[in-house]
Amino acid sequence: MREVGHFIGGKTVSGTSGRFGDVFNPSTGDVQAKVALASKAEVEAAIANAEAAQPAWAATNPQRRARVMFKFLELIQKEMDSLAALLASEHGKVISDAKGDIQRGVEVVEFACGVPHLLKGEFNDSAGPGIDLYSMRQPLGVVAGITPFNFPAMIPLWKAAPAIACGNAFVLKPSERDPSVPMRLAELFLEAGLPAGVFNVVNGDKEAVDALLVDPRIKAIGFVGSTPIAEYIYATGCAHGKRVQCFGGAKNHMIIMPDADMDQAVDALVGAGYGAAGERCMAISVAVPVGEKTADALVQKLIPRVESLKVGPSTDPQADYGPLVTKAHLNKVRGYVDTGVKEGAKLLVDGRNFKLQGYENGNFLGGCLFDNVTKDMTIYKEEIFGPVLSVVRAKDYAEALRLPSEHEYGNGVSIFTRDGDTARDFTSKVNVGMVGVNFAIPVPLAYHTFGGWKRSGFGDLNQHGPDSIRFYTKTKTVTARWPSGTKEGAEFSIPTMR
Ligand code: NAD
Repeated sequence: MREVGHFIGGKTVSGTSGRFGDVFNPSTGDVQAKVALASKAEVEAAIANAEAAQPAWAATNPQRRARVMFKFLELIQKEMDSLAALLASEHGKVISDAKGDIQRGVEVVEFACGVPHLLKGEFNDSAGPGIDLYSMRQPLGVVAGITPFNFPAMIPLWKAAPAIACGNAFVLKPSERDPSVPMRLAELFLEAGLPAGVFNVVNGDKEAVDALLVDPRIKAIGFVGSTPIAEYIYATGCAHGKRVQCFGGAKNHMIIMPDADMDQAVDALVGAGYGAAGERCMAISVAVPVGEKTADALVQKLIPRVESLKVGPSTDPQADYGPLVTKAHLNKVRGYVDTGVKEGAKLLVDGRNFKLQGYENGNFLGGCLFDNVTKDMTIYKEEIFGPVLSVVRAKDYAEALRLPSEHEYGNGVSIFTRDGDTARDFTSKVNVGMVGVNFAIPVPLAYHTFGGWKRSGFGDLNQHGPDSIRFYTKTKTVTARWPSGTKEGAEFSIPTMR
């Protein structure tokens, strides 16, 4: 059985805790590897390696640090096919989507290549007589990332690339469900010229996470995952004096106005609702048609599209989406569908009995479509994270605007309309962090920032873009004057600009 260990101090090392987790092949249900679950001592060893490597890395000029990123990009492009195959085999998403997962991470590495420019401080010449005032951005030291299963390449790179480019050393604790791609990324970083110890991977569960949360050498934590864990990490990390940003769960709505291009809206809903089996934090899980006529037209068009979704193993190039990540998650999602039926929603397409010949033990679920879902139902309130779309009928625009605005999650939202005035009003008023206009999955590009509101995001800076540079550096401000013969004597009152 293949064993996945840790990557510490520039080397792959075996786990010593004696504890292991199963890494499945979601298409077959088989265990394909054992992943070591780190003890506190192993995490501490990774932190010690990072701490030893960080000063020299910070002293390497930003342009040279950027060159490592450029080389890393080249290596990832060369390995794109094998990385995507490895990712898909542990996660279950189809290969084309696995390439997208890697590519959206690559784009943040491209952003981080601009770090010499991004780190430029501010300067005021002659802020007072012969006085210059300037600020500089300096790395924090050792920082950590704790990442979810659903984007095993993209999210580690969203965190590590800006952090490392800024001169920090990094300890990554990826999801124990699909740990192999992060391990391979660590090898590629080393091959690209990153000094040993600057990027470390410790695999593990709560024990490893808790060790990171309390260690005083860790200066910042970037987390992505479910909301209860995000809240726990935010509270514990902050209580231990760290800078913390945590991104949590979601319930993304798509509003369909009566004037929307219905075919475009249906295409968008099917892709954004069922792509990656709905295991995306920016998946659309709630469709909100405005008015009964719009709702009837939408549902009529949606039913055949959901019924004809092609579900297959991650290696099938014809498949629209693959299996869910684990059997436990499959059962959880099925349980939500059962609850929806019990609570009175109308199940228009039932994917629960889907079976795939030759893959009987795979974690497959056919597409499910609910109509007449209401605000008080569990399937509306909670994140399902599966191929299940709920239609909530709104009587007018005002109600459609209220639904996502009042939901406890506030990651993404989208509106489909041909009316600029409605779209403008919506983007301005909706209480959600990322908004799409005729765009179902509004994940901002690398040079803007990504982050949800309300219980989808904790902390005050977003991921990637300019916020990532602020998050991974601290600002130092210098007031400087050179001797010029001026003698003012001692001042006992605070100097002001009066
Ligand atoms: P998860 O919360 O189960 O795990 C995330 C990380 O936390 C993993 O590394 C895991 O090992 C660790 N962890 C799990 N339980 C823990 C505990 N009790 N104590 C300490 N650490 C613990 O999330 P997941 O199932 O891997 O990912 C899916 C979730 O992530 C969904 O809710 C999804 O919406 C969310 N997500 C959010 C974003 C975003 O940007 N907002 C992006 C991707 C995924």
